Amino acid sequence: MTATDTFLSKWADMAALGSAAAVLSWDQETKMPPKGQATRGRALSVLAGLRHQQMTDPALADAIDAAADLVADDDVLAAQVREARREVTRASAIPGDLARRSAETRSRALNVWQQARADADFDAFAPVLAEIIALSKEEAAALVDAGIADTPYDALLDGYEPGATVEQLAPLFDELRTELSPLVRSVAESGVVIDEAPVRGEFTEAQQGELGRVIAAAIGYDFEAGRLDRSAHPFTSGFGHGDVRITWRSESDDFRSGLLGIMHEAGHAMYEQGLPESLAGSPLGEAVSLGIHESQSRLWENQVGRSKAFWTWALPHLHEHLPGTDGVTVDTLFSALHTVTPSTVRVEADEATYNLHILARFEMERQIIAGDVSVAELPDLWDATYDELLGVRPDSVADGVLQDIHWAMGAIGYFPTYTLGNLISAQLYDAADEAVPDLSGAIASGNFAPLLEWLRSNVHVHGRRYSASELVERATGRPLSSTAFLTYIRSITKEVYGV
Ligand code: ZN
Repeated sequence: MTATDTFLSKWADMAALGSAAAVLSWDQETKMPPKGQATRGRALSVLAGLRHQQMTDPALADAIDAAADLVADDDVLAAQVREARREVTRASAIPGDLARRSAETRSRALNVWQQARADADFDAFAPVLAEIIALSKEEAAALVDAGIADTPYDALLDGYEPGATVEQLAPLFDELRTELSPLVRSVAESGVVIDEAPVRGEFTEAQQGELGRVIAAAIGYDFEAGRLDRSAHPFTSGFGHGDVRITWRSESDDFRSGLLGIMHEAGHAMYEQGLPESLAGSPLGEAVSLGIHESQSRLWENQVGRSKAFWTWALPHLHEHLPGTDGVTVDTLFSALHTVTPSTVRVEADEATYNLHILARFEMERQIIAGDVSVAELPDLWDATYDELLGVRPDSVADGVLQDIHWAMGAIGYFPTYTLGNLISAQLYDAADEAVPDLSGAIASGNFAPLLEWLRSNVHVHGRRYSASELVERATGRPLSSTAFLTYIRSITKEVYGV
């Protein structure tokens, strides 16, 4: 066995443990009876412990070093070594005791947060949130010491978006603030009211599920390598090559969240289904970052799923599966799919306002980690930030500072990846549109293969070979910017609201 084989076979074993844990988590969210919780929690924590043990095993580090000596001009092996070292460094940077305290606190915080949100009681959540923040700072400091990043917030961000920094993101967010805040205000002042009747009605879960399946299969989600199930919150879970599952939920009186949710998750899943089999189980065989992942879901949900071209093809399917939609046309649907309404709740936000919700969190998280704001001050800071960016104030902390699960999970630094996904999806779609002859014509005739092929060969096939920013630049010919996204949003608000 060569040193490279030893390194890759150790890595494949860890990937298999990760895959087993993912199956258990998927089952927990879709099929497991409520009383299975304790046993499942134990099984998952043992698997996570085993994986961490293997990841920090000196024998693995030795195997990676030995493989590194063989790199010469093998670019793929060089990238395998680079990615493996990055993950090992991250995993080794956090002392075992800190990791255990953190896992314990997070699982407690989730329960406390759920109850606090139900009761709209921030004081009940504040003490455990303070613990979470202290632990996040401790972890960030350990990561900075290990050389993962230069600043604590960058170190946290790097866990979701490797290589991303505040220095890189802040100018993008500044442009969004400058452009979107006034745009959203002028939409509100336009007085235009969009008729949402085209997306409303009475639809059963079975009817919406059938339509969702037809559309997911048509755009390229491979049901032979996945499946669609119900869950409380939609998600995608990949267990490795050949098994990438998606979930959804429906609303009985509005088909948007169910159908676009399925297209969103199918976009995530088609990315993982498109990762090359030759890299399966290796450091390069995974998604690059959450931002790139989200770009794939957003592209199918928004650039495709809300477009006139798509509905030119999909409308007969809508009429067939959802009774009462006979009068719906591509034009009325287009408007109803692009309403812009400043609101206090992120998960209900539209394309134009969504990034302002993320900007609010990005600003607050940086202040939290820098120690510039205390936990007690957060509810007021939250409301003031919303007022400034979106011109709205939540009626209750349940729709304010308590609305998201992320901080309770200890996922500080996660939010910016949503906006990265939105910006990247717009830039990728523009590049595909330039490269593929008559892309919208193909989509209008139900031929999604040219778009999926373009994504396969420009994004999916590379796995983790390039960083997110390199990948975007290679695929689109320019560095990531907010230009494509802002052009897209402006053209929509012009058409729908005349502003
Ligand atoms: Zn997503």
